[in-house]
Amino acid sequence: MRIALFPGSFDPVTLGHVEIVRRGLELFDEIVVAIGINVHKQYLFSLEERIQLLGLAFGDMPRVRTGAYDQLTVDYAKACGARFLLRGLRSGTDLAYEQPVSQINRHLSPELDTVFLHSYPETIHISSTIVREVIKYKGRLDGLLPPKVQAFIEAKRYQS
Ligand code: ADP
Repeated sequence: MRIALFPGSFDPVTLGHVEIVRRGLELFDEIVVAIGINVHKQYLFSLEERIQLLGLAFGDMPRVRTGAYDQLTVDYAKACGARFLLRGLRSGTDLAYEQPVSQINRHLSPELDTVFLHSYPETIHISSTIVREVIKYKGRLDGLLPPKVQAFIEAKRYQS
């Protein structure tokens, strides 16, 4: 069985992430979408909220599991039975960041390969960073988030 781990911050999960998973399901039997816990980073959404949002985004996709981990990504991948890491690429900036990370992961775990999917034009402009700005100033979230994630965030943060 081909299992891929899609690691990230998912602060919050966006339609860009969903697009990568949807296409990844054409390549893999199962995808584990998981939050890498980083206590040194500041997030808009708590870990519990981000996990809940992953559930809302992927709950109706039977071949997708969600989770969170506090260990090396390669070790978590092994624990999940994943032989592949899945990542999305939007730009040269993404590539410059991803290249050394995939090399170090290969160094740590030679049997693990990273598969990159380029964004489609429909979602290339979407990033969690931009979505966080829109949320901060209560802008329109249509077309940026999975509908259930949008509803959750609007209910929680858009009442004034
Ligand atoms: P990280 O902090 O690990 O970059 P993110 O949640 O920001 O976590 O992103 C997780 C993965 O999803 C990364 O590989 C990122 O490039 C990818 N990604 C995010 N948004 C998009 C998008 N709009 N199109 C394609 N890939 C995306």
